[in-house]
Amino acid sequence: MEALYRVAYGDESTPDQATPLERQRSVYLRGTSGRLWGRPANGVESRWLLTGFSRCGWCGGMMEVRTLDARYCSREPLYQCASYVRRGTTVSANRLALPAALAHDAVLDAIEADLLHPDVVSHAIHQTVEDLQRPHAADPAQTAGLKDELETLDGQMRNLTATL
Ligand SMILES: [Zn+2]
Repeated sequence: MEALYRVAYGDESTPDQATPLERQRSVYLRGTSGRLWGRPANGVESRWLLTGFSRCGWCGGMMEVRTLDARYCSREPLYQCASYVRRGTTVSANRLALPAALAHDAVLDAIEADLLHPDVVSHAIHQTVEDLQRPHAADPAQTAGLKDELETLDGQMRNLTATL
């Protein structure tokens, strides 16, 4: 299995101060050397968490990860508008660069705080169970189509058995 993206996990709180979810996250990331595994929802494997998901706020173009060359002090990976980089300021005037580690931390923290909150997960489970237990009403058009098909098949079966 390949690594899809690497996340920075900076200050690890002590086990006594961490919530259970933070402890699980910390243990998992320690075991994988900071790598997360799995295929992203869009099916395209990427080394970076937000590639293919993030868009430029100015032109709507995709964001790509770049590192600046040796003239700059840092070779830190940055998200930047691909249209600005490749097609110039006439297409996109957004030359802002977002440090990838900051973006990853913000997105993962938001997912952990909002999406993986026990109340949200519990509500989703209850909704799913209710949906599965509720009898589903049949679509009248679909039911009529199936009845017609069944009558046709019955007729064909009678004709077939009559010839035998
Ligand atoms: Zn742009």
